[in-house]
Amino acid sequence: QLDHIGFIGLGAMGKPMVTNLAKALDAAQSPAKIHIYDVVAAPIAELCSSFPDRIAECMNPLDVAKRSTVVFTMLPEGSHVKSVYLDSSTGIINALSPQLPSSSSKLLIDSSTIDTATHLFIKSRLADASPSTPFYDAPVSGGVLGAVKGTIAFFVGCSPQDQSFARLQGLLSPMGDKIIPCGGPSLGLAAKLANNYLSGTITIACAEAMDMGMRAGLDPGVLQYVFSAGTAQNRICDEFNPVPGVCPNAPPSHGYKGGFRVQLMRKDIGLAMDMARRVGSRNVLGVSSLGVYAAASEAGDCKDLDSRVVYRYLGGKEN
Ligand code: NAD
Repeated sequence: QLDHIGFIGLGAMGKPMVTNLAKALDAAQSPAKIHIYDVVAAPIAELCSSFPDRIAECMNPLDVAKRSTVVFTMLPEGSHVKSVYLDSSTGIINALSPQLPSSSSKLLIDSSTIDTATHLFIKSRLADASPSTPFYDAPVSGGVLGAVKGTIAFFVGCSPQDQSFARLQGLLSPMGDKIIPCGGPSLGLAAKLANNYLSGTITIACAEAMDMGMRAGLDPGVLQYVFSAGTAQNRICDEFNPVPGVCPNAPPSHGYKGGFRVQLMRKDIGLAMDMARRVGSRNVLGVSSLGVYAAASEAGDCKDLDSRVVYRYLGGKEN
């Protein structure tokens, strides 16, 4: 099946994801088009001028959906996702028809990180409008660098036996190299929130343990090696160590520029804590973790920087 792809939300993640889709279609000499929309003009102009025969600008989400067989959304928060899908005049929902056979239905994929309840609410409204139109949560991990390199992980809200999973794998593979079916609707989001809860909390633990060891007289490189050889081994300490200078290519060694913004980590830990309350899990570390990310998000010397800047926020010793 030849898919014309729609993409809405062309920010830090969406723009490189569209670029990778366009490159893959070029390489395959596919006649498929990519129809894009954002409320900001600059990324639209850039993408259209980089791929003039491949990418076309649309007027609004409805326009994107009318021209496409598959639509991706990559938006900041649940409120944006809700309006892009459900707005009564320009929402994607207005392009769906109630009686299409599932073979000619559009495929809708939201890769934004939002709460599971909002995803399920949108899903039920779309199902009321068109029962045969599949709508999946497929949030991502791997950051802007991963989006640029095409190596992000997708956590997909479906089972491996889902009727659309093979098609989803083909569509997602130009943008990511790990496509994980998480079991069912909204479970991709539940997995993403659990993942970021863990990585955000590990980051703070790593910052504190590094600071404590350095103040006791240990060299930060030795300390990192000890953690990686011992039971504390983890990817944050190994590849994104929050202490400047320990991982030369990571954001902490470049003034915490680039990477995953501290405000996004605050958002994700907040969403994870909401989920914890709803499902009845006891996340005691999350309370402190959310407090640290919330405060660092407001601090003048941390705001807008990579989330590993919590080391600076916590007063970590200079390396
Ligand atoms: P971003 O703010 O850079 O981009 C979002 C884009 O959506 C912007 O270009 C904005 O103009 C556009 N937008 C907002 N409202 C819109 C609307 N109503 N219609 C059309 N476009 C609209 O955000 P991002 O960093 O690209 O993140 C997108 C999502 O991916 C978020 O949910 C984020 O949590 C998640 N995420 C981000 C990263 C990261 O490292 N940046 C990593 C993993 C997941």
